[in-house]
Amino acid sequence: MMSFESFVRLGWSFFRTVLRGVFPRRPQLPRFVDQYRPDGILSMTSAEASAQDAAARCYGCGACDVAALGSGDFERFGATGPMGFVVGLSRRAGVDPGSPLGVDAKLAEAMTDACPVRVPFVALVDLVRRRHEEHVQGTGAS
Ligand code: SF4
Repeated sequence: MMSFESFVRLGWSFFRTVLRGVFPRRPQLPRFVDQYRPDGILSMTSAEASAQDAAARCYGCGACDVAALGSGDFERFGATGPMGFVVGLSRRAGVDPGSPLGVDAKLAEAMTDACPVRVPFVALVDLVRRRHEEHVQGTGAS
């Protein structure tokens, strides 16, 4: 048989559930995303989500690194090169949002052309540039 305490706890939980339904709380997700965007949290916008999904296609073949080494552009993607750049973005593994990238659209397109799964370097570079601007605005750095 149910104890009196259990009965009270159950009733209290039911009452709170009904109250939450009547007075819904403000969604916290936008606040959470604003807080962590400069740190590179996954974006909720469909354009950025699709770019990050496409980055996840990278299987580490290194063809982009070879192409960048051949043209002397390896370090324009940062110390880890283009493959490290993509892997860092898709796995949240080390892209510094405070690091500006010296990559132009022509170079980014050349990396996509070299990539067997056509990772969209242009969209990813744009994404990192936006993150960098947010980081600069958030910290007041120049
Ligand atoms: S060429 Fe494409 S799949 Fe290969 S490492 Fe570079 S981004 Fe990844």
